[in-house]
Amino acid sequence: MAEITQDSILAALKTVKDGDEDIISKNMVSGIQIKDGHVAFAIEVPPERGPQLEPLRREAEKAVHALPGVISATVVLTAEKQASPQAAQPHPQHSHGPGGAPHGQGRPMGGGPNAAPENFLPEVKSIVAVASGKGGVGKSTTAVNLALALAAIGNKVGLLDADIYGPSIPRMLGISGQPESSDGKTLDAKENYGIKSMSMGLLVEEDNPVIWRGPMAQSALIQMIRDINWGALDVLVVDMPPGTGDIHLSLAQQVPLTGAVIVTTPQDIALADARKGLNMFRKVEVPVFGIIENMSYFLCPHCGERTNIFSADGGVDEAKRMETDLLGQIPLDTEIRETSDSGEPIVATKPESKHAKAYIEIAKIISAKVAQALVKKSESTPNIVMQ
Ligand code: ADP
Repeated sequence: MAEITQDSILAALKTVKDGDEDIISKNMVSGIQIKDGHVAFAIEVPPERGPQLEPLRREAEKAVHALPGVISATVVLTAEKQASPQAAQPHPQHSHGPGGAPHGQGRPMGGGPNAAPENFLPEVKSIVAVASGKGGVGKSTTAVNLALALAAIGNKVGLLDADIYGPSIPRMLGISGQPESSDGKTLDAKENYGIKSMSMGLLVEEDNPVIWRGPMAQSALIQMIRDINWGALDVLVVDMPPGTGDIHLSLAQQVPLTGAVIVTTPQDIALADARKGLNMFRKVEVPVFGIIENMSYFLCPHCGERTNIFSADGGVDEAKRMETDLLGQIPLDTEIRETSDSGEPIVATKPESKHAKAYIEIAKIISAKVAQALVKKSESTPNIVMQ
């Protein structure tokens, strides 16, 4: 395979013009990353020009894609100048890890509530975000088992690891290796245990972490979601980064989420964290399907006695107070931890276990809520009646 270098990319981009001058001379290109034939970079544009520059973005993508050895070219528009002095240099320094580039989707961040385009992922029927107010509550474990449970009840499921700061889905699903591209444009999702998945953890080298700046992280994520070949899916589960920062807001605004689920532990449920997550989705008019209380109680492995970590009805009461539903309670259990940490999630490997059944019950409720939300959405779209 021909070697792709920064210089060959810069030379190709010198042919792409914005007005009278090429985009390299105008210092518009930054963050070039090359890995195994996959190239990614950003074109920095003034926010007000973003919407008009889609043709320029496409031209740059085409120019780089035409280079020998390039399997995929991912070019994103970013409306914000990077804080780093590298941004001002015509020869960006990055040279590792594709998939990590800023992206403004051709428009400035932060349109109104859920300003996502309708044809975002035409083959994906619904997208459900799994979020938490803070890290360590078992959000990823829940997202993995929930995705598997949704598949167990008959859905075609994808799982996107959007937790770009600590991607754990590859480990939890036992997947590894660089993603491949069968059409040379999009990355094929990986498949294991009957569900498709993709994670930024598969795109960047562990010893060469990409430094995610705020706007860069947001754009990279949206770009990654768009550039994955998921095939036809009934539901795409998105394991969100923990917390409720800008990245969540922009994701919720730019990805047409069908609904969101908040994972919390019993001690956090009473605190502000779960509420923060809930309010964020409500602000951008994404329906919140409810909360899942994780590590909710402890079942004695010897006598089977249930010990509640906090009060048994705390979750129900808090959910009511937050005007949402308690979708289910998952116990604190070493088997859940061990199976999830070793890449053998309990729903896939022990589907008859009590814990797997708990996830499946939650998946049934979520499935029904997704169906409801889709009907509601189709009802709000005007129909043309022929007489
Ligand atoms: P988060 O995504 O919220 O940071 P993780 O899903 O990575 O959290 O979980 C953090 C740790 O807690 C992991 O080691 C995981 O195996 C463990 N864990 C998650 N849920 C449970 C549970 N219900 N019982 C026991 N351990 C759990």
